[in-house]
Amino acid sequence: MSPDGECDESPESERIPDRNRMTRLRRNLSRWYAAHGRELPWRATHDPYRIWISEIMLQQTTVAAVIPYFERFLEQFPTVEVLAAADENEVLRMWEGLGYYSRARNIHRTARQLVAERKGTFPHDAVELQQLPGIGRYTAGAIASFAFDERAPIVEANTLRLYSRLLGYDGDPRSSEGQKLLWRFAEAVLPKANPGRFNQALMELGSTVCTPAAPDCPSCPLRTVCRAFAENRQEEIPRPKPRPKITPVVEASIAVRRGDTYLLRQRRAEERWAGLWDFPRFELGEDQPGHLDRSDEALVPVLHQNLQGPLKELTGIAAEVTAVVTELRHSVTRYRIRLICLEAEYRSGDPTNGDETQQWCRPEDFEELAFSVTGRKLARLLVRRENSGS
Ligand code: SF4
Repeated sequence: MSPDGECDESPESERIPDRNRMTRLRRNLSRWYAAHGRELPWRATHDPYRIWISEIMLQQTTVAAVIPYFERFLEQFPTVEVLAAADENEVLRMWEGLGYYSRARNIHRTARQLVAERKGTFPHDAVELQQLPGIGRYTAGAIASFAFDERAPIVEANTLRLYSRLLGYDGDPRSSEGQKLLWRFAEAVLPKANPGRFNQALMELGSTVCTPAAPDCPSCPLRTVCRAFAENRQEEIPRPKPRPKITPVVEASIAVRRGDTYLLRQRRAEERWAGLWDFPRFELGEDQPGHLDRSDEALVPVLHQNLQGPLKELTGIAAEVTAVVTELRHSVTRYRIRLICLEAEYRSGDPTNGDETQQWCRPEDFEELAFSVTGRKLARLLVRRENSGS
């Protein structure tokens, strides 16, 4: 029998603590959180808008990195109505550098939907919240419980690790069996009173004490109910994710100059960083003869020749590559990218194609547009060079 009286016959359900252990767990955690919970900008509120923005930003991103973005974003878009009325470029500009830009586009779409269909209010119910773009089961549970004190469970990266250890679950926590067990526990552990605060306490313990490496078990308030600790297996649980194989890639980005402007293009819906502005960028496939390791001087004629066709196809113009401006190294998911940034002089062709997704832009206007991180680095380098007159 499960703690709430429902019949669950799966062997894994036996891992869920009995009523007495559950009571101890709740009491110890609540006391610990009252004494040790951090004050974070999105905690001292029940405003679903602020909670929603913080939760989306915190996906795949650390608290320290999110705080300045959160504050700037809320200053620019203080309400869901202001966000809905904004232009997508403005939203992406405020998100620039946080990565995973589909999060920003979904936030914008959702704000528009909430204003158009619900006068800017949020559903209270986690199932209804999940119907909105970009809101999954975890985010829905966080909004429903933190903002409305609904008894909605949560499982995210920190609680996934914490629950796996508390239950001593050494299977794959991302498998369907693992997910079923963890969500089942997340539901069972929630108290009737203040479930939102309790969910925050679980996340806090996971992120500050039950850390991925070297969890601080001696100061953990839950060590007396933790199976992994009892079995001294806290370093083995949860089972690590298989590491993706890293693939090296070489790309080129071309700053094509015409007078005092450069050609920029807005990346298409099907491209990485959709909606962001960028200099024309190309992957240099393995068919490039192995001369990409040459000096800058020797690279210029090679890349000029190899990129004429792709540049024409992508932008409709021809240009002469004149110099390597810089090289940047960065990673995107499992790709480790070496980006060769080139400068070129415009020769012929019309890139505008009747739409506004390709534009000649003066360096002093770059700051108004949302760029990818490497696009911004190149843009700022060109501006600095322009200002220094070199
Ligand atoms: Fe995590 Fe250790 Fe606490 Fe168990 S005792 S929940 S492993 S910090």
